Amino acid sequence: MALSGSEMGLRYHNRVAVVTGGTKGIGEAIVRLFVKNGANVIFCSKEENAGDLEKELLESGPGTGTYVSCDVTKEDEIRRLIDVTMKTHGRVDCLINNAGWHPPEQRIDDTHAEEFLDLLKLNLIGYFLTAKYALPHLRKTQGNIINISSLVGIIGQKHAIPYVATKGAVTAMTKAMAVDESQYNVRVNSISPGNIWTPLWDELSSHSANPEAMILGGKDAQLLGRMGTAEECAKAALYLAAEGTFCTGIDLLLTGGAELNYANKNQQETRSSIYH
Ligand code: NAP
Repeated sequence: MALSGSEMGLRYHNRVAVVTGGTKGIGEAIVRLFVKNGANVIFCSKEENAGDLEKELLESGPGTGTYVSCDVTKEDEIRRLIDVTMKTHGRVDCLINNAGWHPPEQRIDDTHAEEFLDLLKLNLIGYFLTAKYALPHLRKTQGNIINISSLVGIIGQKHAIPYVATKGAVTAMTKAMAVDESQYNVRVNSISPGNIWTPLWDELSSHSANPEAMILGGKDAQLLGRMGTAEECAKAALYLAAEGTFCTGIDLLLTGGAELNYANKNQQETRSSIYH
């Protein structure tokens, strides 16, 4: 007799998940782990760059992974992403909003309102619109949404005002959505990672004057003395989707303790260089 999904140890068997920004970094790890646990995943990115991932997932299974090109700053493309999901699988159980970007160092004096608006469109409105189009289907399955936010949305970060603002808003929006959607038994949660080694981090450090020092600083920001991995983020997402059935409106800090240890944060040196 054939074994059931749970007998095979599959934690999201035959569930349907949509992952935005699923071709790299945290999103890619989420796609891989969900497929490994029996889910049928639709994943997107802006560029047509699924590479071999779709083929690899087809071979590995036991779930499936289907790539759809979708720029989450474009409402019509988001609508199409959800339409394709419904046409392909007929249901949505989980939406993982992950596609986002952290610009290189930005000081307020050099930052234009248009750049801020563009980042809001990607990091916040993209999450809002994908949720808006997925929710009618999520309500039918009593599904859930996971928004990938960031620790810096709570504690701030130097020279990153627009990014910090978008992530603070994602965490706040998650709670507001959780309140509204609870009547349909739809859960809405966020994950706030600390520094996670991904192509985004690689790209950001390569643009800095001293990449090695930046990477070391990135590791030392965590009590655990290292960056997290994309796979660790994926495990947190699978927990919230599959087992965290009494979690809604939470913000899961996946930070290696980066927010702990009250310490000297006086930026006197920077101050002197500005005022003298
Ligand atoms: P990443 O390595 O750059 O991957 C980002 C993914 O998003 C890629 O698949 C990218 O595909 C896609 N993407 C970007 N713009 C898009 C758009 N307009 N439409 C659709 N897809 C788009 O980034 P990551 O480090 O994994 O970060 C993922 C999320 O985690 C982001 O929201 C980020 O803010 C958050 N986060 C990351 C860290 C960290 O330390 N890495 C920490 C806290 C929070 P294309 O290249 O095709 O656009």
